[in-house]
Amino acid sequence: MTGMKYIDEFRDKDLVNRVRRQIEKNATGTYTFMEVCGGHTAAIRRFGIPSLIPSSISLISGPGCPVCVTGTEYIDRLCASSLMENVIITVFGDLMRIPGTRGVSLKKMKQDGADVRIIFSSLDALDIARRDTDKTVIFAAIGFETTAPGTAVTILQAYKEKIDNFLVLSAHKIMPPAMETILRQGTGINGFICPGHVSVITGSEAFGFIPENYGTACVITGFEPSDILLSVLMLIEQVNSGKPSVRNAYGRAVTSKGNLIAQRAMEEVFRIHDAEWRGLGIIPASGLSPAGKYERFDASVVIPVSVNPSSETNGCICGEILRGLKKPPECKLFSGACTPENPVGACMVSDEGACNAWYKYGEMYG
Ligand code: SF4
Repeated sequence: MTGMKYIDEFRDKDLVNRVRRQIEKNATGTYTFMEVCGGHTAAIRRFGIPSLIPSSISLISGPGCPVCVTGTEYIDRLCASSLMENVIITVFGDLMRIPGTRGVSLKKMKQDGADVRIIFSSLDALDIARRDTDKTVIFAAIGFETTAPGTAVTILQAYKEKIDNFLVLSAHKIMPPAMETILRQGTGINGFICPGHVSVITGSEAFGFIPENYGTACVITGFEPSDILLSVLMLIEQVNSGKPSVRNAYGRAVTSKGNLIAQRAMEEVFRIHDAEWRGLGIIPASGLSPAGKYERFDASVVIPVSVNPSSETNGCICGEILRGLKKPPECKLFSGACTPENPVGACMVSDEGACNAWYKYGEMYG
């Protein structure tokens, strides 16, 4: 009950209308803002935010959905590993339906007899390893700074308990290098709605280089309608004043330094390396894998699997959507050949994917 009251506070109609009026008053030019958090992508569509702001403000989605940015080659590796004897693949549900090369998915591998199990936490995977000691359990670790600490803590626990049948195939990524790549590729955005959950871990200081080096505005915010509208207003104010900075509209969850315990766990377990992002290619220093004494938990080292070079499914423009160059309805397959029930590309699978959100909440919101 208290939780609902708390949420209601940020959905209050009067508050929303007050912020809307301020936006209308201040929006004297044209603006393009990019959100780089799948949670924001879903919330913006779900609450119809584009219909609440002037059409001179364009909100575009970036590479904020972890499932969407995970490359086809990673899915191919998991599928190939699932064919090995005495191997159990453990994954979050969304990964099951991501098509790999020629449409082969983990769901298909499971239907064909592979031991692929859906879990809700990396600790569930460790539990399976404790029980099935004659099998090797591979945890498919995806996600940004939000989920990487959980994987780090699980590896620390496995190390402590000397569990030797637990491996991690890491596709963990960190967000600031991807935002820098977007800016370098010249998308022409005026500001970022910075990722709310990621910022809880990294702290607001992690984005300081963006206004400093690129002159681009940043606002960290939460996931309720008034949060998102407030971030739009704060971005407009920064653009109008010509004084970009990092502003925090999510003070109830985000501090300047972030979660130091989570950061320390990641630093202890992972090394940072170049990583492949769907649509963005290889981004320097953007991936995380177990290192040092924890390298023995790295599935790519312990049981390397070679797969053929991969490519995007024919006609899918996920890559351009993730770079903010196109919107989902511009894809010829959108809502016809590609739907959440039968996804052709990764952006239609997860609730946080741009295509999925546009499909669910309609194009009427613009
Ligand atoms: Fe890819 Fe489907 Fe989105 Fe088109 S609608 S870009 S095929 S995920």
